[in-house]
Amino acid sequence: MPTMRAVMKKEAALGTSHQTVDVPKCGPDDVLLKVKAASICGTDLHIYKWDSWAQGVIKPPLILGHEIAGEVVELGGRVDGLAVGDLISVESHIPCGKCYQCRHDLRHICDNLQIVGVHRAGGFAEYLSIPAVCAWKNGPAITSDIAALLEPLGNAVYAASEAQVAGQNVAVFGCGPAGLFTIAACKALGAVKVIAVDVNPKHLEMATSMGADELLDGADPTLMERLESHRGGAGLDISIDMSGNHKAIVTAIRSLRKGGTFVAFGIPPGPIELNLANDVILTGRRILGIVGRHMFRTWELMQRLIESGKLNPAPIITHRYKMADFDEAIRVRASTDARVGKVILTP
Ligand code: ZN
Repeated sequence: MPTMRAVMKKEAALGTSHQTVDVPKCGPDDVLLKVKAASICGTDLHIYKWDSWAQGVIKPPLILGHEIAGEVVELGGRVDGLAVGDLISVESHIPCGKCYQCRHDLRHICDNLQIVGVHRAGGFAEYLSIPAVCAWKNGPAITSDIAALLEPLGNAVYAASEAQVAGQNVAVFGCGPAGLFTIAACKALGAVKVIAVDVNPKHLEMATSMGADELLDGADPTLMERLESHRGGAGLDISIDMSGNHKAIVTAIRSLRKGGTFVAFGIPPGPIELNLANDVILTGRRILGIVGRHMFRTWELMQRLIESGKLNPAPIITHRYKMADFDEAIRVRASTDARVGKVILTP
């Protein structure tokens, strides 16, 4: 049985370890990928730190990693439309194909969703086996680094496209990697003005390189007035929260003009208190929850935006490590005092 090295959560405790495990089997509906590049998500950080969310969801032993690019090395007997050598981006949400949502073109919110690197073996390893339905084939213009970023970039493209940002003023709250991708996606999809809001000046600095038109300090006591000044004082058209921060979410909703759209993506640690009458009903605002990527409308759109040059996620890559140096890579990813965007890992 061939073996490989993998970054694993071996036990229900802080940290990860490098383990030698069997190369995963390629089932009849699967493709076996040789991992070319991976990137670290905030979710990996939660699993590494073993916080209360991770303790409730993760069942060790588990190979981490769900932002993965790999080359096809083996195809299951029932797989067609793919070939050995194709560069694949992994759609990390594996749908059941049978539930109500799956039958209604909403596979990303499947009732029986299995997430790669969360519910089943991830790709911080030399090989990864996934159902062929979740293998997105890239064109020749896409490098493996960029291919690894399409999963998180897809969240942003999905958020911006569902919010219909063309011609609109948009504020993005939280400018970590997810927020930075969202700024780029909003600009690519024709938002006329994108305002970046964050309490971290390093994040705001990076927001400029992703195309933000205006930077606002999230801790500024006049933040609400500044946001409301858009559209002649009527407020913003769209606000997108990528932070999960309670104060940011409330500000993001209340700074919208009447009829504006709030997009919720960042996951808050607890309930959010709103005045539903004033904040939503009487102001005619819309609240839109975004998770994952539409399969595969988001992927098609993202590919067109990248290939046409309208969307370039490359500036967000700030660090590269060998997978063997995972501990150092995750330490850098967790730091808040440096200019850290996406950290790419290679086996
Ligand atoms: Zn389903």
